Amino acid sequence: MEISAIECFPLRTDLSRAIGFSQWYYTAKNNCLLKITCADGTVGWGECYGPNLAIAAAVEHHFKPLLIGKNPLQHEQLWNLMWRAYHDFNRHGIFMAAISGLDIALWDIKAKALQVPLRTLLGGSDEPVPCYATGMYYRNDKPEAAMLEELLDEAATYVEAGYSFLKVKLGKNLEFDRELVQQFRHRFPNTKIAADSNHAYNFKEAMGMARLLESLDYSWFEEPLAPDSYHDMARLRASTSVPIAAGECEQTRFGFERLARAGSLDIFQPDIAYCGGLSEFQKIAAIASAAQVDVVPHCWGLKVNQAVAAAAIRMLPENPGRFERRPIYLEMDQTEHPVRDSIFSESHAIIDGALHFNDLPGLGIEVDEAQLANFRIDLNDSSTSRFANVEE
Ligand code: MG
Repeated sequence: MEISAIECFPLRTDLSRAIGFSQWYYTAKNNCLLKITCADGTVGWGECYGPNLAIAAAVEHHFKPLLIGKNPLQHEQLWNLMWRAYHDFNRHGIFMAAISGLDIALWDIKAKALQVPLRTLLGGSDEPVPCYATGMYYRNDKPEAAMLEELLDEAATYVEAGYSFLKVKLGKNLEFDRELVQQFRHRFPNTKIAADSNHAYNFKEAMGMARLLESLDYSWFEEPLAPDSYHDMARLRASTSVPIAAGECEQTRFGFERLARAGSLDIFQPDIAYCGGLSEFQKIAAIASAAQVDVVPHCWGLKVNQAVAAAAIRMLPENPGRFERRPIYLEMDQTEHPVRDSIFSESHAIIDGALHFNDLPGLGIEVDEAQLANFRIDLNDSSTSRFANVEE
């Protein structure tokens, strides 16, 4: 086999209503898909997590010339080629996001060439993957008390749809956050709940919140501190029984090895579309297993990322494991996303809060390229900047 074409699709859609978290409000969603075509007609799809136009430029100008004409089945060698070619610049950031999407597309091609689903190629099972519902983003069009009522009602729709696990947003302000986590536990006494501050707190604030989450039996406290606070995360982890989770801002085996060595986390959350792709995710998972740390992939994008994360979850070990298994949940973003909901003509079904695999070879997704064209943006379109869409 031979790679004959690589095309990147930076995508954008406006939202009907702004959604917020601890750092800012979104009024649009930006994503980045990419397509690798082989000389025999086989197509692989990848997804990159991060600033889409910069990633598209990295693919177009730097990685595409390296990969054209190469054998896609030698994807481990191709990963090493991309890594070595830009080693001085790709240890963190945009270049590694680009490599991630390319690596996912190469795995899709390999599984299609072998005519097996990706999970089978990885040695995983076909069992449905339980999902947790990510939502409850802030609204900026009503007072806090009314917003909290709306967020509770929003969560109720997910529970009614079959989800047994919710993730809420923290980091607006401490008073609101305390009220929110208590109200959620009161309203949903038998539901698993995780809380995510998106690195909004300082150490003392995080200590106080961890104690409250512990008393309310929350499932994990996500990104309590800034991503580089390896040692403060370790101190926080040692002070509480609520599991400390992070990793969506981290990349490569080297980044996660630092987190493992510092003892920072109970749960690694690499995003496969950002951490270095599925090839690098496997190495991160091995580090996690050796450190007895759980892995729950971060997944906040399109159905390519969902599909690869679901397949990856099915191959992960349990740490340490027991007769009554402790499920690993797939993140399922519930927020408005016209691109995600319209460009896929085939994908895995979500039924009663679980992903049920289809039997298609590869990732198990098909892209409707006519729909895709409706959301594609020009490489010179500066309105896609995250900050062009922020409501102050
Ligand atoms: Mg998060």
